[in-house]
Amino acid sequence: MENIQDLLDRTAAFSRTKTEGGAPASYIPELARADPALFSLSMTNFDGETYSSGDSDSLFSMQSISKVAALCFAIETLGRERVFSKIGMEPCSEAFNSIMKLEMTSSIPLNPFINAGAIVLVEMLNERFQALAIAEIMDFFSRLLGRQSRNALHINEGIYRSEKRTADRNRALAYFLHNAGTLSGDVEETLDLYFKLCSIEVNTADLSVMGATIASGGRNPASGTTIMSLDTAYIVLGLMNVCGLYDQSAEFAVEVGVPAKSGVSGGILCAVPGRMGLAVFSPPLNNSGNSVAGIRALADLSRELKLRGI
Ligand code: GLN
Repeated sequence: MENIQDLLDRTAAFSRTKTEGGAPASYIPELARADPALFSLSMTNFDGETYSSGDSDSLFSMQSISKVAALCFAIETLGRERVFSKIGMEPCSEAFNSIMKLEMTSSIPLNPFINAGAIVLVEMLNERFQALAIAEIMDFFSRLLGRQSRNALHINEGIYRSEKRTADRNRALAYFLHNAGTLSGDVEETLDLYFKLCSIEVNTADLSVMGATIASGGRNPASGTTIMSLDTAYIVLGLMNVCGLYDQSAEFAVEVGVPAKSGVSGGILCAVPGRMGLAVFSPPLNNSGNSVAGIRALADLSRELKLRGI
């Protein structure tokens, strides 16, 4: 049988150019500068071994993938009941930054992976940790990703400032939520923390370790330490299954069929329960804000590795 490194190399070589119809995100000006030809793919197994192929040294901002890590941390520190008192657990058929559902139904965001839900989550963390929030969150992210110390993770200042300067849409969402009473703290302070989390830089190896940690039920296979409870992993896996790729989540379930989460810098994180973590990076996005070549590579790997069990 072909070994895993050869399989990743073959998949990367085949998929990296399959970006037709996609373009790097441009609504955050700094993201539009990404090299559309970059492509990286990583896998981490439960022995803690990571395999990578392509431009695996490339760093990119977590963007919405940070919402998964923030959710893990929030459930672990605040508890499930508190987190889901102001955020739902249902998929959203609108874009990740849509304001429509909030106004039409209730001012409780549908899930923690759309922007409105993540902003509410970030306010809860900010309220709990105050000035220490960013340090505490980055410390948790470092452990989840298998980085050595919190100093090893960095915020990309250019992306952070670029998003903060141009985030009218997220501001609109947040002020709407504040007006409705779902948010009660300082909106700009909450948004500032949200932008920082979106701008944390990682590579696909980091994300594949994070995927393996969630997929194993909470144990980071690289460091051997338990990062979260099995119950937290179940919640996160369930939501990744139905909300991980925004309004393309159902199509992704058909094409790939494993719990995943995408971000607008072009990353996709996958946690294959009981098997492995996978991550891919390629900046050109489709209309839903998901990596075109990334989905293609994951669909191929899902078949080759029988990630659906069959
Ligand atoms: N920082 C981005 C935003 O808030 C994250 C969205 C995403 O990755 N889909 O718009």
